[in-house]
Amino acid sequence: MTAERIAIYPGTFDPVTNGHLDIIGRGTVLVDKLIVGVAVNAGKGPLFALSERVALLEEEIRHLPPAVGAKIEVRPFQSLLIRFAEECRANVILRGLRAVSDFEYEFQMAGMNHRLNPRVETVFLMASETHQFISSRFVKEIARLGGDVTSFVSKRVAARMAAQFAAGESASAGDAGAPTLPQIAPRTPL
Ligand code: ADP
Repeated sequence: MTAERIAIYPGTFDPVTNGHLDIIGRGTVLVDKLIVGVAVNAGKGPLFALSERVALLEEEIRHLPPAVGAKIEVRPFQSLLIRFAEECRANVILRGLRAVSDFEYEFQMAGMNHRLNPRVETVFLMASETHQFISSRFVKEIARLGGDVTSFVSKRVAARMAAQFAAGESASAGDAGAPTLPQIAPRTPL
């Protein structure tokens, strides 16, 4: 009997975009179970509290075909990424790769995690053509300035962002307990 193939797909998901959902959908084809790990990443100054980022992801996953959704679980985590992978009994860390600018950071992170636990492989999926320019950071910037983000995120996420900005974008204050070790460090200074 072959062992169950479990992958974690870690990220900040602040908020979940169509690019993330594309990686999630394509990732589920490769594994038996995909655990979407939502990092606290308080250092990134998230717009949404951890619990809201988890809830938004769960809502998006509810709208995927049931056979796909059944393979996916969303879990918040505060620990070091490789510890989280071990807790999940994952043999794969899934990441998405967009432009060359993602490469150096991802290359270093994959190397460090491999040194910490060589039994966990990092696997990259190239961003698809239609989603490669989407980043949560720019989506937030566009939404903050009142632009239309509905080609980057679902209508539900767009509405939630609009409400958040209308309310004065203070929800991230709800994330207590910043981790002492970086989980997934911010790629680009905000
Ligand atoms: P992080 O803080 O780890 O960068 P993100 O939520 O920004 O968290 O991204 C999580 C993962 O999803 C990363 O591997 C990132 O490269 C990938 N990703 C983000 N946006 C896209 C996209 N548009 N297409 C493909 N992968 C993406």
